Amino acid sequence: MTNYQHRSSISILLIDDDEEDFLITRDIIADFPSGAYTLAWEPDFEKAKVKILQNEHEAYLVDFRLGAESGLDLISYSLERGIMGPFILLTGQGDLQIDEEARRLGAVDYMVKGSINPDQLERSIRYGIQHVLNLNEIKELNQQLERRVMERTRDLARANERLSYSNESLQKEVDERKQAEKALRESQKIYSAIASNFPDGMLCVLDKDLRFLLVDGKAEEPEMRNKQEWIGSYASSMTFIDQKEAFIKNLKKVLKGVPLNMEVTVANGEREYQINAVPLFDDEEKIQNLLIVCKNITERKKAEKEVLRALNQEKELNELKSRFVTTASHEFRTPLSTILSSVSLIGRYISDSDQKEKIDKHVHRIKSSVNNLTYILNDFLSLGKLEEGKTTFNPVSFDLEQMISEVVSQISPTLKEDQEILLSIAEGTFGEIYVDEQMTKNILINLLNNASKYSGERQKIHLGLGRENGLLKITVKDKGIGIPKKDQQHLFDRFFRANNAINIQGTGLGLNIVKKYIELMNGHIEFSSEENKGTEFRVAIPITQPSYD
Ligand code: ATP
Ligand code: MG
Repeated sequence: MTNYQHRSSISILLIDDDEEDFLITRDIIADFPSGAYTLAWEPDFEKAKVKILQNEHEAYLVDFRLGAESGLDLISYSLERGIMGPFILLTGQGDLQIDEEARRLGAVDYMVKGSINPDQLERSIRYGIQHVLNLNEIKELNQQLERRVMERTRDLARANERLSYSNESLQKEVDERKQAEKALRESQKIYSAIASNFPDGMLCVLDKDLRFLLVDGKAEEPEMRNKQEWIGSYASSMTFIDQKEAFIKNLKKVLKGVPLNMEVTVANGEREYQINAVPLFDDEEKIQNLLIVCKNITERKKAEKEVLRALNQEKELNELKSRFVTTASHEFRTPLSTILSSVSLIGRYISDSDQKEKIDKHVHRIKSSVNNLTYILNDFLSLGKLEEGKTTFNPVSFDLEQMISEVVSQISPTLKEDQEILLSIAEGTFGEIYVDEQMTKNILINLLNNASKYSGERQKIHLGLGRENGLLKITVKDKGIGIPKKDQQHLFDRFFRANNAINIQGTGLGLNIVKKYIELMNGHIEFSSEENKGTEFRVAIPITQPSYD
């Protein structure tokens, strides 16, 4: 803004090197109708420049010819420095052609010296001032506008920044969602891959409401054939499961973390399935879904039933066989004892014969064969009874000394030539003893029989008896063929016979029965043996407390 509004009179500066012109102009201004004008004068071009820049005047009258300088230069100098004037150019009569130039530069008016009239000049000055005022106002408005544009631009930039930020976060969210979807697709792909390579079964994923999220599998179950159609439906729609109620109840337990393993039948027992279900946890270890693995086990179950049936059949057949053997053995024993007694009698009747020696030899042979046969039959009978569970542990009080002498006399006829049983009985062994008499007897006979059978003629067999810590201890020791190392582990197996015993008569049942008797009496048996040196069996049988009721 100029100072124009604050002044009582309008100050005009005349820049003209001719004093005469100043005086004329002053007179003209004095004639202005309003009279509110003062005129200052500056003849020097350079000084005028300074004065103009001080901006203390409201209007400037500039002579075109300022000595060597031009008024036009002064005007353009001032305008370039933001002083808008107004500048009115004064020229002589001959300078008419500069009119255009003056206006182009920005002078508001142009007057010819000598023909200036006061009204015209005053109007020109007034318009000029108004023009400059208008210009300034426009300039001010422009500046304001520019400021506002800048502010707006700044705001827009900020808004843009915000927008790009929210765009960024939106993009991030979209990316994350895409990633999650990708992960889901991947895991579904994995499930699908597992499922479609899963033979005879299906894989299902259910949500917490027991709704299907995924149904897949290689197996073509008629009820689940349209796998996609099952997605979204509830597990309770599986009405074809015969045990549906229990199945659903168990699935609910899986949601509480209890894994499920159950067998169900489908379509009234037509097919059978093994169902395994486990909870699936999310990142926070919470149960979100559950995974069900169903396997069609119809064929396996059928096979199982078949095996079971065959097994039962076999068992029945075995029972039949052992019953037959038992009966047969039993029935054989009677005629055998008849043969034995008859042979003894024959031997006695023909005692006078001169063939006595030969007859005795054959009688002995018949007797020993019959005895052997009786042993075998006894073994069969014992085994049959043991297997049928008919053999029970039955401890009684008996005279051990008596029993030992019975055993020795029973075994003696079967001993090889000059074989001898050497008894060594620890002190305090005899007296009242309380074990199963029959079983103990059988054990002794079997062990002594083996000791004799597997050692040579004239060999001594040691039978040791003792009583220690509530146990009856028996040792049977021979110096016979021994048992090869590799065979020792199978010694108590049924029908097992060591390699070096093949040419010696036997069935491989004796020790098996001995072991079973000892087990029934809660006893213990062990042995040590070395091939061609001999064998020792050690038996310990608990002596039971007598019950007197
Ligand atoms: P049986 O059923 O008539 O007793 P077995 O004597 O062959 O027939 P076990 O008494 O069960 O059957 O003995 C099994 C095997 O152990 C024998 O065939 C023999 O090889 C070996 N054996 C048992 N006792 C002795 C022993 N004292 N010395 C060497 N080998 C023995
Ligand atoms: Mg034997």
